[in-house]
Amino acid sequence: MSLPGNYLDGHSHAGKAVMLQRDAHHLVFTDGVHTHRYPAHSVKFLAGASGLPDQLQLPDGGVIEVASAYGCQHLTRRQPLPARLLEWLQHGWPWLRLLLLALVAAALWGGYRNGLPWLAAEAARRTPVTVEQEMASASLKLLEKTSGLRPSQLSPARQDSLQKLLLQAVPHTSRYHYQLRLVDARELGPDIIPLPAGLVVMSDQLVKRARSDDELFAMLAHAVGHIEARHGLRGLIRTGGPSLAVSLFTGDSSTLQAVAPIMLADMKYSAEFEHEADVQARRTLAARGLSPCLSAALLARLDGPDHAAANLLSAHPGDPAASADMARQCAPAS
Ligand SMILES: [Zn+2]
Repeated sequence: MSLPGNYLDGHSHAGKAVMLQRDAHHLVFTDGVHTHRYPAHSVKFLAGASGLPDQLQLPDGGVIEVASAYGCQHLTRRQPLPARLLEWLQHGWPWLRLLLLALVAAALWGGYRNGLPWLAAEAARRTPVTVEQEMASASLKLLEKTSGLRPSQLSPARQDSLQKLLLQAVPHTSRYHYQLRLVDARELGPDIIPLPAGLVVMSDQLVKRARSDDELFAMLAHAVGHIEARHGLRGLIRTGGPSLAVSLFTGDSSTLQAVAPIMLADMKYSAEFEHEADVQARRTLAARGLSPCLSAALLARLDGPDHAAANLLSAHPGDPAASADMARQCAPAS
């Protein structure tokens, strides 16, 4: 709509007849020479005293006298909410805009942080066991090549007994066919590497440093905890990001299989995964009537000045909160 008015620019006393108009966010009029445009929110309506015209006060000190209060308010009325929000984003207080942007960014980051672990767990759950088996054998081949793994020096009878020990640490409900691969790993030293689909690589060096099979059972139970919860797969999907997870959802595992051997062979577990594997291992140990302190005792001995088990300790850093509790529980009585 248009509304006639009398424009006083604040400098001269003579007014000019103008025709006021409103676009989305502005009050617009021309004085015959210039076109004036003011944000509607910056124009104030003042009801005139008795016998005097109503006024629109402009932010630059100008005034427009108008005859129709209704038309005047129509020209300066509040916009619908979306238009006002847009206007506020364009002209509102800068710190409020920054706050809004920060809140949006925090919401997006929170969604990413919480959403990615969920996506990774779901994508891992949907990955067929055959794909996990292929990743495990490719990782073992890579380890053999890069870490100088050799056939185990342990007797076949000892290897058999350790294989049986592993199977005793596996839950009955497991979907995997577990296999223990014993290796002579002089470069890695005492180590145990859980790979997907139930393949556990354990070094002769770890077997020799254990004081009992119960200690080895505790280590195997922890490795089984990682495998059952698909920590390797979940960890590398989290590292690969949402695109890797989405490609797995669509049944395309080629990218995952390309990066899996390198990442699985050098996996460092997060505190969250360590906690989950520990919980599972403690349950298994309790069911066998064994102390939850067995692996802590072996790891403490391995954490010596020679750093012989540096690989093992860096891959399984433990859950810091739980480690403090365990240290208290497992401290030798003095
Ligand atoms: Zn671990």
